[in-house]
Amino acid sequence: MIITTNAGHTPTSPGAGALLNEVACNRPLRDQVNDELRRRGHEVYDCTAPDDMGYPDELDRQVCIANESGATLAVSMHLNAGGGTGPEVLYWDGDDHGRALAAKISANLARALGLPDRGAKAPDDDLAFLRDTGMTALIVEACFVDSPEDKEAWDRTSWADIAAAIADGIEGKDWAKPAAPAPSPEPTPEPAPEPEHGCNETTHVVKPGDTIIIGK
Ligand SMILES: [Zn+2]
Repeated sequence: MIITTNAGHTPTSPGAGALLNEVACNRPLRDQVNDELRRRGHEVYDCTAPDDMGYPDELDRQVCIANESGATLAVSMHLNAGGGTGPEVLYWDGDDHGRALAAKISANLARALGLPDRGAKAPDDDLAFLRDTGMTALIVEACFVDSPEDKEAWDRTSWADIAAAIADGIEGKDWAKPAAPAPSPEPTPEPAPEPEHGCNETTHVVKPGDTIIIGK
């Protein structure tokens, strides 16, 4: 699949910040998801706007790069703000494929982070990234920047789990925490050797009075 992703905001237009900061979190999030998608054989184009571009130009640039990329899916990485907990994924109202992928990604992220799943949402606001991209487009709101539970979940969850949860959702699959490798069983102790019998006929037990010849 050809997929285009972006890191949402730019340093000029940094988005929400509180306990977590969007522009600081969304860039490694984009990088980790891109690496995971490429590892799975997808072709990935970054449609993040240049650092010096601010609102609303950065959105026009994202849309422009996405529309030229040949991608069939566009995903923008964000964090949420305003009081709440857990991930949600926004899609364009009426895009059933977008709604299905959004629900899958949100559920997978909720499982990876251990937070409530807010699910797929078609926002009332006319968001340019969803409206103007010519393919299924999603805005991933991975968690809330202003929720202590969400910050704790974000900090404790590995990049591998977060990236795999999103990549699985993009592929329409459920994410499950990879099974930890089975602990290696305690080695079975070697059975203790049978004690030698003292009455073995080949063994001569030295007694007082025996003559011992050394060096023969
Ligand atoms: Zn944002």
